Amino acid sequence: MTTAGVDAMCVSIGSDLPYLTGYRAHISERPTMLVIDGSGVTTMVIPTLEAPRVTRHDDVFSLEVWDETDDPMGIVDSLLADAGRIAIGSQTWSRFTLDLQGRRPSSTWIDAEPIMSSLRIIKSPAEIDRLRAAAAAVDGVADDINGIRFSGRTEADVAREITDRTLAAGHESVEFCIVASGPNGASPHHTASDRVINMGDAIVVDFGGYQDGYCSDTTRTFVVGEPPSGFVEAYAVLLKAQTSASAFVAPGRKASEIDAHARAIIDAAGYGDRFFHRLGHGIGLDGHERPYLVDGDDTVIEEGMAFSIEPGIYTPGEWGMRIEDIVVATASGVESLNTSDRRIRTVS
Ligand code: ZN
Ligand code: ZN
Repeated sequence: MTTAGVDAMCVSIGSDLPYLTGYRAHISERPTMLVIDGSGVTTMVIPTLEAPRVTRHDDVFSLEVWDETDDPMGIVDSLLADAGRIAIGSQTWSRFTLDLQGRRPSSTWIDAEPIMSSLRIIKSPAEIDRLRAAAAAVDGVADDINGIRFSGRTEADVAREITDRTLAAGHESVEFCIVASGPNGASPHHTASDRVINMGDAIVVDFGGYQDGYCSDTTRTFVVGEPPSGFVEAYAVLLKAQTSASAFVAPGRKASEIDAHARAIIDAAGYGDRFFHRLGHGIGLDGHERPYLVDGDDTVIEEGMAFSIEPGIYTPGEWGMRIEDIVVATASGVESLNTSDRRIRTVS
């Protein structure tokens, strides 16, 4: 905050709050807001009915509990006292930001995101342990995928089974489960539809969720029966791009350079126009966070950064393929947290 030249910071919903306090607020019209003033005095303004969920850390923050008929933004306003330049969490509802701006017409407001991401982008060993455990859980599901029947079932039905298995593996929630078969595979963020999976389909399975507060996210591509035409050749290129880009990760590289490394391999093989999304995204308390592995994000990789490496090749109307691992930059290189079999695997 001192470096950013702010007098105070307000953080409400989203992952900044649990990062700082261990408490994840409900997304609600009843605001919860952490106010950090310039001297480091930290107060969580919270509705009465939510306060019992908070684990107290009196050495870190105090609680200011508001009742149903109180004016919570008035409490925040008074805690901000004479602060002139105030950082506010980027996920704060605009109605609360506008309310505060109305009360404090002479204050300057900036996005707290750069301050918070400068902290969150480097994972501690304890955070990496949690990411590793979350990755191991989804890897177990991916490794046992042969126990799931695909053909003759809808994508949604298969997605339900993968979701159930992921919960049984220890996740507290599954946030997404993409099962994209045949032509649906060419839509990278397809979810899971009522399309019935047929023999000869390629299937992109991309799933993840929360375990012990941290996210998992992995993708593997499967085929039912014989792969479609052109698939095996393209997959060899994709696998080379994914594994080579992972191995290229090291402190000192830029996020954009890792993206370019994978993209060059896919371009050289003639599939460049069929890989049209960024190579990866950071992961931690959020499924997508800094850094972003994309042209223009020149974040210099440091030990402790965690992010996905997930190139894809998509042929509209026919098939798609993607391989995704979460990796962590180490002092000397990289550790891939996902290690399940990346080769084309045949399912029934
Ligand atoms: Zn994914
Ligand atoms: Zn991802």
